[in-house]
Amino acid sequence: MSEDKKLTPRSEDFAAWYNEVVVRAELADYAPVRGCMVVRPYGTALWENIQGELDRRFKATGHQNALFPLLIPMSFLEKEKDHVQGFAPELAVVTHGGGKELEEPLVVRPTSETVIGYMYSRWIRSYRDLPVLINQWGSVIRWEMRTRLFLRTAEFYWQEGHTAHATSEEAQQETQRMLGVYADFAINEAAVPVVQGRKSETEKFAGARASYSIEAMMGNKWALQAGTSHYFGQNFAQAFDIQYLDRNNELQYCWTTSWGLSTRMVGAIIMVHGDDQGLKLPPQLAPYQVVLVPIWRREEQKGAVLAATQRLRAELAPRFRITVDDREEYTHGWKYNEWELRGVPLRIEVGPRDVEQESVILARRDVPGKAGKSAAPMAGLPGTVQRWLDTIQADMLAAATAFRDANVHVARTFEELREIVLDGWARAYWCGNLACEAKIKEETKATNRNIPLDQMGAGPGACVVCGQPAEQWSYWARAY
Ligand SMILES: [Zn+2]
Repeated sequence: MSEDKKLTPRSEDFAAWYNEVVVRAELADYAPVRGCMVVRPYGTALWENIQGELDRRFKATGHQNALFPLLIPMSFLEKEKDHVQGFAPELAVVTHGGGKELEEPLVVRPTSETVIGYMYSRWIRSYRDLPVLINQWGSVIRWEMRTRLFLRTAEFYWQEGHTAHATSEEAQQETQRMLGVYADFAINEAAVPVVQGRKSETEKFAGARASYSIEAMMGNKWALQAGTSHYFGQNFAQAFDIQYLDRNNELQYCWTTSWGLSTRMVGAIIMVHGDDQGLKLPPQLAPYQVVLVPIWRREEQKGAVLAATQRLRAELAPRFRITVDDREEYTHGWKYNEWELRGVPLRIEVGPRDVEQESVILARRDVPGKAGKSAAPMAGLPGTVQRWLDTIQADMLAAATAFRDANVHVARTFEELREIVLDGWARAYWCGNLACEAKIKEETKATNRNIPLDQMGAGPGACVVCGQPAEQWSYWARAY
C-alpha cells in the first residue's frame, strides 16, 4: 500500500473498510469463479495457526483426523428430510464425469454428515467400537448468491467433527464439550470474547435436534456466529443405519453429533480487533508476532545497524514468529504503515543511536502512536518481547470484552429492542414462540443469536414481544 492511500474509515463504511483490509493486507483475493476466494500466503499462515490451536485441542479431547471424499451421491442427501431441504438451494451438482453423463448425480459436499454417516454404519458393529470421535479438515461448497471474503463464500475452509455414541447423554456431553473447546480457543487464542448458547428452532442446523453456537460482536456491533456444535439425537443414525449391538446383544441406533469452525473465524478476528490503520492480530495467532525494522539515514550507519538487527533476529527467532524488513526501496515510515496494516503485534525499531546505546524501540500495534512506544535494552530482549506479547494478547481480549459489554443492553419492551439493535445487541426475555421471533426479525432485521447457557440469574419475566411469561434470556442482533 502507499502512504497516501488510506483505508476507508470504519465509521464511514464498515463493509468497504473490511474488504480493503482483506485485500490490501494480502489475506485473500477474489477468484475467477464468482463467490470463491483465494486465500493468500499471509491469510493461510493465519488459518494454519488457527488450525494448529484447534487441532491440539481436538486431539487432547480424544479425536482423530480423517479425510472423506469431496463428492457425495445425491441420494445420500435425500435420506434425511430436513437436511436435504436445508441444503438443496445451495448445492453444486456434478452431472458429468469423463465426458459421460453420470447415472446418479454427485453433489460437491456442502457438509459431510451423510457420507460420514454411511461409513460409520459400516464401521460400527458393537458398543466396543464406540465412541467414534473423528474430525476432518477440508473445504465445502455452498452456492451462495451474496458473498464476502472469509464471511460467506461459495467454497470455504473448515473442520467438521463427527462423532457417534452409545447414549444420548454422551452425545450431548460431546456437543457441549466441543462448544466449550471453541469458546476456549476464541477467547484465549483469538482474543475474541464469545457467548455460548443454544440456537432457536428457526436458526438451528438442518437435521439437528439442538444446535449451539459461539457468537461474537464485531466492530460495527453486528454479531457473527463463529462456530457451531450440533446434537443430532438418532436422526442421522436412523437415516444411515448407524447401529450397534449393546451389552445385551440387542441392536441400537447410535447418537451422533457434528461441530464445525471455518475460515469465518478469520473474518471475526479482522472485525473484532481491526482499526482504521488495518488489521490488529492477536499475538497467539499472528503469522508474524514481531517485525524488526532496521533504520539508517547515512550509508556509513548501515553496517552496524544491520549487524545488530541480524544478531537480534538470531536471538528472537527460536521463540517467536519473526520477520525482518530490511528492504531498501521503502522508507521506514512506509514500512511502519505496511506492518500496521498487516496487524503485526509488535514492531522493533533498530536505529544508529539505538545501536550505540544497546537498546531498541518497541511499538505495540494495539496502542497507536507514541503511547504504544517504549525503549528497551537489547540485553534480555527475548524476555521483554515475551512479556509485551502476553500483555498485548491480554489487553486485546480486555478491550474487545469491554466493547462488547458496553454495547449489550437489556430490552424490556419491543420498542426498546427495536432501538437497541440499531446499534448494539439486545438481551431480552423471549417466550420461545416462533411468531414472536419472526416479528422481531421482520420488523428490526435482528435475529435470535442464541439463548445463552449462562442465563445470568434469569427469573420469571415477560416476553419482549407478546408479554407472555418467559423464563430465558436471548441475544438479538443484526448478524452476518
Ligand atoms: Zn412471545
